Amino acid sequence: MQEHCYGKSNTMSSHIGSIADASQRVVTMLAEKEKKIAEITSCPAPCTDGCVSIKLQMGNNRVVQEETCPILGPNCAYGVALQRQIAQRLAELMTAKIGIPRRHVARFDRYIETIATKEATRWNSRGFLVLSGKTGCGKSYAAAWFVDRYLRSRIGNPYQSETWEWRAKAESAASGVMWSGAQSIVEDRSIATDVKRSSLLILDDLGKESELSSAQAIIRDVISKRYDSERPTIITTELTVSDIGVRYGRALAERVIGEAEDGGRFVTCGDLSLRLIDRNCAA
Ligand SMILES: [Zn+2]
Repeated sequence: MQEHCYGKSNTMSSHIGSIADASQRVVTMLAEKEKKIAEITSCPAPCTDGCVSIKLQMGNNRVVQEETCPILGPNCAYGVALQRQIAQRLAELMTAKIGIPRRHVARFDRYIETIATKEATRWNSRGFLVLSGKTGCGKSYAAAWFVDRYLRSRIGNPYQSETWEWRAKAESAASGVMWSGAQSIVEDRSIATDVKRSSLLILDDLGKESELSSAQAIIRDVISKRYDSERPTIITTELTVSDIGVRYGRALAERVIGEAEDGGRFVTCGDLSLRLIDRNCAA
């Protein structure tokens, strides 16, 4: 409920003859209010704060009561503004705090359905989701799309919370998510430590890191630790199932792929080009 809608009633300064009369007037007014609220089928303007003014008759007096907009939600003027605010805040958190490249986040105004986004939507957030495919098939976009859904699920219903509440929930959820390229992990020891612990990790571009055995060892360690602690992990890669076996060893490939088939998913995203879709949509 929008708590801020309450306590704004005009002072009712009517002369009340008797307690019985007064209570009868209140009963009549409440019935009228219920009726007026039920009659609202589209968002009455202005509904900029999720509240609507209901004009009522109480005895000889006109009173105005502020009530929560009965269609509070995405079809309401306040809802539209609120959704815009949330999208903006999540985009900031995803780029500045989580480290998702801006080009993936900029396209959330419309959902681009690909094999990758479909599978990311279906994923149960357990174990590994491996999105495999060539550049441009939309695997990183799908991973970013998943993060957006994940943060929204942590916010819960924004219509039932105050601004500071959903912002705090979004902030707290985002602090547990990390997006890191495989090469950044092997280059920075502190990133390698942090990614093992994050509540959700997007390991982008597996296979693009250095081929030095020390680099491979760091990646194997990160994946093993996440597997052991059962922390949800999305991996994007151009490698196929057998490439992963060759590069990191069968034992690790079985962990990732076995896990992907068991609790999570290994998805071959196909040749569909997101860039091509984008161009066609723009045309
Ligand atoms: Zn409204």
